[in-house]
Amino acid sequence: MSADEFQLPDGAKAARASSLITWQDCPRRWMAQQRRRLLANLGFELASRPSSIGAHVGSGAHAAVGWTWEELTRSGELPPVTLADERGITKLRERAREDGVLFDPTTPNLNDAELAIRKMVRAYRDHMSASTRAIMVEAAMVGRVGGDWYLTGHCDAYLEQDLGLSPDGVPMSILRLDDFKTGVTIPAPVAQLGSYIWLGRARGLKPKAASVTFLRRTRRTADQPPPLVRTISPQLAERTARTVLGDLTAKVEAFETAADPDPLIIPCNPSSHLCTAKYCPAFRTRWCPESFLKPAGDDSNA
Ligand code: SF4
Repeated sequence: MSADEFQLPDGAKAARASSLITWQDCPRRWMAQQRRRLLANLGFELASRPSSIGAHVGSGAHAAVGWTWEELTRSGELPPVTLADERGITKLRERAREDGVLFDPTTPNLNDAELAIRKMVRAYRDHMSASTRAIMVEAAMVGRVGGDWYLTGHCDAYLEQDLGLSPDGVPMSILRLDDFKTGVTIPAPVAQLGSYIWLGRARGLKPKAASVTFLRRTRRTADQPPPLVRTISPQLAERTARTVLGDLTAKVEAFETAADPDPLIIPCNPSSHLCTAKYCPAFRTRWCPESFLKPAGDDSNA
């Protein structure tokens, strides 16, 4: 996803909903990932790294699950699982070809990545309910948040679940915003969920619940655990999004308008578990002087 696909006005500045979790973890890594061209123009050279296999497996699983929701909602029946696999694997190979791939011990090659997607798709289908419809799937959303700043993102799904009839015989349902995550650790993308709630309001969407559905990425020989669903108050999520975005826009503005654009204007977090040569393009570069405190090539905390 890029800001370009939203056709923002000239001079617009974009923050992606999915990137807010990075800002919360290490704002300077957010700059390295999201403002790479600006930093290069200022003379800050960053390392180039291929994308992680975890990100590619996630993209593939999203493509398969999103399509499955669309088909279930359209026809009322689950589509063939092999067609969902095909979509997921095509997306995986496309991403690996375009962005390169950094394997890890959980998923050491592309064959294992394909298997991981197949396992996730089956676990997710087992958890889908015929009483739930997708109102919106993988929808591109954008909204102006103040000044030249825009918030952009793709929300995974707005799901409407039937709750049966009320005592008066009226059909009841609940609208839930759901973000689908995959990985080896359970994330807490509160600000990301809050961003979608904020942006969804412009479309008349007022979910009563927000949730993350997490599927663990497992090794080839490991059983696939079922999805884990965690819910959070939509109000809390939206307040978090507004706080994080307010901090982000203020600090990025301060950096961009400074007479001397110094890295220290943007805070950093060398204690982040992603503060390693493997995961951060700013590691031991001029853009992050603090990272020279850490041993070169130290991936021990990743
Ligand atoms: S090297 Fe570490 S502290 Fe510096 S930007 Fe990267 S993650 Fe943040």
